[in-house]
Amino acid sequence: MGSPGSAVAEPRRTVSGPLPGYRCLDGPVPTFHAPRLAGEAREVRGYLSQGSGALAGILGAEAPDGPHTPGGGVSPVRAFLVADEDWHGAPRENAHPYPPGLPYFTRSVDPPALVLPERLSAVFRPRTGALLPLTVWHELAHATLLDREVVRAPLWLGELVPQAVSAAVAGRVGLPLGEHLGRVDPAPGFTVRTFRGPAGAEEQMKFQNLLLLFGTAALRDFGEGFIGRIFRALWDEKDVVGEARAEGLLARSLGPGGQEWLRSRPEF
Ligand SMILES: [Zn+2]
Repeated sequence: MGSPGSAVAEPRRTVSGPLPGYRCLDGPVPTFHAPRLAGEAREVRGYLSQGSGALAGILGAEAPDGPHTPGGGVSPVRAFLVADEDWHGAPRENAHPYPPGLPYFTRSVDPPALVLPERLSAVFRPRTGALLPLTVWHELAHATLLDREVVRAPLWLGELVPQAVSAAVAGRVGLPLGEHLGRVDPAPGFTVRTFRGPAGAEEQMKFQNLLLLFGTAALRDFGEGFIGRIFRALWDEKDVVGEARAEGLLARSLGPGGQEWLRSRPEF
């Protein structure tokens, strides 16, 4: 996976790097953590292992073989589970730390990294047992998509992909989403296409949750194959993807009846 150290599996290593003193739990996605977050790190490492295995299967034949992907379509990436007091030192592109409690993906380190806070910000909703794994899988999907150059595309398409992935992973690993989805507002006053940034954190969360409902409906009606087709389509695009092209790309990825289905969806 390109992580430092020998190929011999050791349960833990203490490493230097962006966050000195952090320990590493090995796995498909090596997980670095503050020493006091060992238990939380094991939980996160488990979600990452589930997510990378499921994502490789979801992308399956749709994903071209990459140089790093003998077992599937998932690229080398690692995760940092960052204690509150270390947040300012977490790897990132910008000079200033991002707001606390918000996970993100960064290519500022090699291999690139998912940066996860020790606790999700209170804006993350609904607060069910599914929230953390869904959030981890969302970031893992971003990391996988951004393993290749991706042209600019409308926000709704760029965020639909990770939301659909996280719902598909949940399906594969048997995480029920009924309670979580039941607490999501299906009519927040905008559709995924009329939502406009910059918006406050609460509105952003409503947008993400609307995409989760939308992605779940697409999975139910078309199966998970459309996810790999979207990945491939976005990787193949050479020019900026505008609104009309994005809609066509999604409709084609869904398959026969996709266009009519999109027009019928209240979220769209
Ligand atoms: Zn996202």
